[in-house]
Amino acid sequence: MPRENLLNNTNLLFDPGAPQHKRLADRAAAVGVAWGAERIELANVQFYGWALRNRTTLLPTRDQLSRAGEVVERRRTELAGTTELVWVVPDYFDGVPKPCMGGWGAVSLTVAPDGGVLPCPAAGALPDLDVPNVRDRTLGWIWRSSPAFNRFRGTEWMSGPCSGCPRRETDFGGCRCQAHALTGDPARTDPACALSPDHALVRALAEAPPADPPPAGAPRYVYRGPVRRAANEPATQRPAP
Ligand code: SF4
Repeated sequence: MPRENLLNNTNLLFDPGAPQHKRLADRAAAVGVAWGAERIELANVQFYGWALRNRTTLLPTRDQLSRAGEVVERRRTELAGTTELVWVVPDYFDGVPKPCMGGWGAVSLTVAPDGGVLPCPAAGALPDLDVPNVRDRTLGWIWRSSPAFNRFRGTEWMSGPCSGCPRRETDFGGCRCQAHALTGDPARTDPACALSPDHALVRALAEAPPADPPPAGAPRYVYRGPVRRAANEPATQRPAP
C-alpha cells in the first residue's frame, strides 16, 4: 500500500491518562503531519476485551482526559486547513453510546481463524450466542438468516428506554458487549448512555480517583498469553481468560 494511503487510514490508540501518552498525542500528531497525513485519529481506549481486563490501569480521570483534549485543541488550531485531527473520547465520559459496529449485523462481519463468523470481533464473549461457522453454512445464510446475526439486528429486540428513543436508529442501543460486560445482560441499554438505568455504573468509574500504581515489581498490565482449551471447544466461544 502506498505510504500516503497507509497514513490516511491509520488509527492511533493510546491511553491519555499516562503522562508519556499525553506527550505521545503531541508527537504522533507531529509525525503524522511530517509524513503528510490528511487525517489523524487519536482514539482513546474503549473498554472491551483485553482493555476491559486492564481498565483499572487504562481508564483516565476526567481531569487527565481534559488536559489531553487541550493538547488536541491546540494542535487542531495549528493544523487548521492542512490536517484533520479526530479526537475520540472513551464513551464512559460523554454519556453518548457508540453504535455497535455501525449496528449489529448491519455493515460488518468478522470471520475468525476457526471459521466462526461474528457480528463484531468481541461478540464471541456473549453468552448463548450460537456462533455460525463458514465450514457449516454459506456466508450469505449466516449474514441473512443465522440466529446470531439476527439476535440484535435492527430495533425489534429493544426494550425501554431504547425502544421509544428517537436515537434508536442512530446508535442501535450502543454496544451489546459492553452491556453484557457491565450488567450481565447483553440486551440491556448500553450503560454508557446517560438514559440507561445502569448509567450510574459508568459514572462511578468515570468519576473514580486515579488507581494506585501497582506494587513494585508487579506487572502494570494483564497481557494475553497462550490458553489451553479442550480439543472440541470452538475458539470463538471461549470465555475471556
Ligand atoms: S436510550 Fe438507547 S437508543 Fe436512546 S440514546 Fe440511549 S442507547 Fe441510544
